[in-house]
Amino acid sequence: MPEEGTSPAQQGLGDMQADEFRLAARRVADRVADYLERVESYPVVPDLQPGEIRAELAPEPPRRPEPLDTILEDYGRLIEPNITHWQHPGFMAYFPSVASGPGILGEWLATGLNSNVMFWKNAPASTELEERMVSWLRRMLGLPDAFDGMLTDTASVSSLLALVAARHAVPGLDARNEGLAGRPGLRRLRVYASSEAHSSIDKAAIVTGVGRAGVRRIPVDADYRMRPAALVQAIAEDRANGWQPFCVVGTLGTTSSTSIDPAAELADICERESLWFHVDAAYGGAAAIAPELRPLFKGWERADSIVFNPHKWLFTPFDASLLLFRRPEVFRSAFSLVPEYLADSAVEGVHNYSEYGIQLGRRFRALKLWILIRYFGTEGLAARIRDHCRMAREFASWVEAHEDWELLAPVPLSTVCFRYRPASLGGRDDPATRKQLDTWNARTLEQVNRSGKFYLSSTRLRERFTIRVALGNPRAEQEHVEGCWKLLQQTADRVRGA
Ligand code: PLP
Repeated sequence: MPEEGTSPAQQGLGDMQADEFRLAARRVADRVADYLERVESYPVVPDLQPGEIRAELAPEPPRRPEPLDTILEDYGRLIEPNITHWQHPGFMAYFPSVASGPGILGEWLATGLNSNVMFWKNAPASTELEERMVSWLRRMLGLPDAFDGMLTDTASVSSLLALVAARHAVPGLDARNEGLAGRPGLRRLRVYASSEAHSSIDKAAIVTGVGRAGVRRIPVDADYRMRPAALVQAIAEDRANGWQPFCVVGTLGTTSSTSIDPAAELADICERESLWFHVDAAYGGAAAIAPELRPLFKGWERADSIVFNPHKWLFTPFDASLLLFRRPEVFRSAFSLVPEYLADSAVEGVHNYSEYGIQLGRRFRALKLWILIRYFGTEGLAARIRDHCRMAREFASWVEAHEDWELLAPVPLSTVCFRYRPASLGGRDDPATRKQLDTWNARTLEQVNRSGKFYLSSTRLRERFTIRVALGNPRAEQEHVEGCWKLLQQTADRVRGA
């Protein structure tokens, strides 16, 4: 006897029938629309202990089909309320990663097609749409047509691919064929990144055989930007000591403070020293869609490779990272392997994208970008980004104007770094005062997050506990930003008084 509530399709050998799928899909679409409409009724971060949800999930997979109603009910009970709500306008932690309505629709359509974008032949329209989206995004960022590129899953993977290409471009190394191990004559490779650069650069070094010791962190200036003079000195020292410098990573929008490395100066150094210049603009890149913000990135147009994540501040459902490169032939010769069983799929005149990276099978990410860019238009996207920057500047001005709070970094984009520092402490900066301030700020952050209304994250800047407010949700409005500021003040005063 089939279980009550299961469909005839579940008793046979085929897939869900079209009519059943149609009805279920409508319910799911309603469910998502309801979710987005009422997301603010959820606490941003659920009040859960580790393991609590696992204990509610059946330890064994079901032997017999289960009714879809039951499955969706369980989704509504166990999953939806118990995630951290990245879509919530009060989510201001880390960097934004928000799925807009048109982006979600694009993701759904891509899932329906399940196009696997390996070679043009097995994904013709998907490949050509990806080619077009790469050039649309490049133009939206104001970058020259000389850049080719591709979509990947994350900035971590984009930077890894860039480091492999940079390594491949080192004359006489041929790590692709010969590897790095067991070659005693080789000089050790060195990549440079600021002390504020993202850990994905270290991970890329781990994977490429450069190793963490091969990542030289360059000190930053008072505004957390890489110091070009220190880079020049480090390269000279390394060359004298038998290292092989091969790549410089400039970060345009660092993860802690959103500082922007001086790209033009780094490009000059790379040109002089014949080094690969990779730019990590995973978060910050979106700002270049607003033409008046492009001067912040001056010089990035001279990079060999650039990563920018539409899934961060461009309202694109996770995942979508844009990797741009000037010399596609380097990526292709670093990665291309076309085995016999795929040889007839690789045609010329188009990108066979699997030849440019690690993956053979690739998701069809271009569709959601096509739909959302057309839905908002480039001006609409720029207007939203501009508004986030405006709100961040306004938030920063409240912090600066308040005698009990201080700004801890400049605010070039949409993220504010600050801390509570009551005026009554005077200018005291001894270790005990610093410790006290760290404790107050950490408690304030914890209590604000526990309120369920907002979710903020922290970092350390010059050894000081720093609260971050990162804006970038098109559903967040002025009232959210004002509410967050108000709650922070009330909470900090209460924490100090406690
Ligand atoms: N680079 C920077 C500057 C980042 O801020 C981040 C994440 O926040 C990354 C890289 C890693 O991004 P992903 O999660 O796409 O790998």
